[in-house]
Amino acid sequence: MSVIEELTSLLSSPKRIAITMHRKPDADAIGASLGLYHFLIQGGHQVSVVSPTDYPDFLKWMPGSDSVLIGPFDPDKANWIFDGADIIFCLDFNALNRLADFEQTVRDSDAMKIMIDHHMEPEGFEDLSYSDEKASSTAELIYRLIAEMGQEEKVNLASAEALYAGIMTDTGSFRFTNTSPATHKTVAKLMEIGVNVNMVWENIFNTATPERLRFVGHCLSSCLHVLPELKVAYLKVDREVFRQFPIKTGDTEGLVNYALSLKGVNMGVLLTANDEIIKLSFRSRGNVSSKEFAENFGGGGHFYAAGGRSTSSMEETEKRFLELLEENKDKLLA
Ligand code: 5GP
Ligand code: MN
Repeated sequence: MSVIEELTSLLSSPKRIAITMHRKPDADAIGASLGLYHFLIQGGHQVSVVSPTDYPDFLKWMPGSDSVLIGPFDPDKANWIFDGADIIFCLDFNALNRLADFEQTVRDSDAMKIMIDHHMEPEGFEDLSYSDEKASSTAELIYRLIAEMGQEEKVNLASAEALYAGIMTDTGSFRFTNTSPATHKTVAKLMEIGVNVNMVWENIFNTATPERLRFVGHCLSSCLHVLPELKVAYLKVDREVFRQFPIKTGDTEGLVNYALSLKGVNMGVLLTANDEIIKLSFRSRGNVSSKEFAENFGGGGHFYAAGGRSTSSMEETEKRFLELLEENKDKLLA
C-alpha cells in the first residue's frame, strides 16, 4: 500500500489524533499543524494540537490557535494526550529530540507516528513518512497530501490561512531557492479559497513592538562581526543584551538574515544566549551547507538554513565556532 492509501484508510474512521511540531515552533510548524487540524476535524476525529514549547504572539491570530495546548503549561495533559492517541502526527521535524521535554513520551507512546516534514536526514522514528526535502515547507506538503488523498475540497479558509502562513514564511515570502512552480500553484489555490495574503503578512511581519526594533538596532550596531577573509558574518547576542531589551518569544526571528544580506558573505550566523543554552542559527548561499556546520552543534535542518545548540558558555561556543570556520575555510570560499 502507498503512504497515501494507508493514510486514507487510517483516517476513514474516527481516531484520537495528536498533532505536534518542533520546539520553538515557527509559522510553518504552527501553520502546517493548524492546517492539518482544520482538515482532520471534518472527519469526525478527536484532534489535539500540542506544542512542545510556547510560540510567538505573532502566530496567535491563526484560526484554531486558541486550542493549541502549550505543553509546558500543562505537561500532565500533554503527556496524557500523547499516551492516549491512536495517531501522532509529527510535523516539520524529523528527530524526536526536537520535542524538548516530550521526546520520551512520544517515543514510548503506542500511537502510530506519522511524520510529515521537509528536513534532511530523518532519524527514522516514524511508522509512516511523508517527507520531501525539496518541498518549500511542511505546510505545502500538507496541502499536497490532502490533494493526493482527493480531499482538496476539505481545505477550508481556516486551514488555508494557516497553510499560507507556513509557505510564505518558509520561502522568505517566495524568494528563497525552495520556492517552486508547485509552491506558487498551491498558493494560487489557497488564494482562491479566500486567503487574504495582506492580512497574513500584516499579522506576521507588521506587529513588532518598539522594544523589538530597538533590540534589532542594537544587535546590528553592537553585536555584528564580519569576517571578510572567510566570507562569514555573525551576530553574537549575549545574555546581557536580553537583559537590557525586554523582548518576547520570536523576536530574534529573521535577525540572522541581516548577516547573510552583506555583499560577499556566504554564511550568516546568529548566536543567542537567551535560554539556558546557546542557540546557533545558520543561513548560507551558493555551495556552503548550513546543515553541515549545524551538525557540529548537535543540530541539522536544510542545506541553506539550519540550527544547532551548545551547552558551553558563549565564549567557548564562539571559540569552537571560529575554529570550525578556520578548519572549513575551503568550503566557505568555494
Ligand atoms: P532556525 O535557525 O530558524 O531556528 O532554524 C533553521 C532551520 O533549521 C529550520 O528548518 C529548523 O527546523 C532547523 N533547526 C533549527 N534548530 C535545529 C536543531 O537543533 N536540530 C535540527 N535537526 N534542526 C534544527
Ligand atoms: Mn519548515
